[in-house]
Amino acid sequence: MKRIGHFYIEDTCIGCGACDHACPGKVDAIYKLEDDFIGRFAIVLEDCIDCGFCVPMCPVDCIRDARQAGLDAESESGWRRIRELQAWAQSRN
Ligand code: SF4
Ligand code: SF4
Repeated sequence: MKRIGHFYIEDTCIGCGACDHACPGKVDAIYKLEDDFIGRFAIVLEDCIDCGFCVPMCPVDCIRDARQAGLDAESESGWRRIRELQAWAQSRN
């Protein structure tokens, strides 16, 4: 399995865009969802480098670290669970 990052955005995102500016330029793991009327953002797990820069930028505290949520991204079940948490974003792509 490809290594993935541990950070994901919950669907309580209000689309302010602050996290997008915090994500290091070459990484650019955060993107704005198309066709989402709130204009929310999501993280591409495969691109995230776990720097955590985006977390303190969020005014509504909706960026989560899977490890703190008790999820092990390296395990099959943890990886699936993070994927499920991101599914709301995927479904809006
Ligand atoms: S943890 Fe770092 S690399 Fe991952 S989405 Fe946030 S700012 Fe980008
Ligand atoms: S900083 Fe938080 S509320 Fe703003 S776009 Fe990012 S995840 Fe959404």
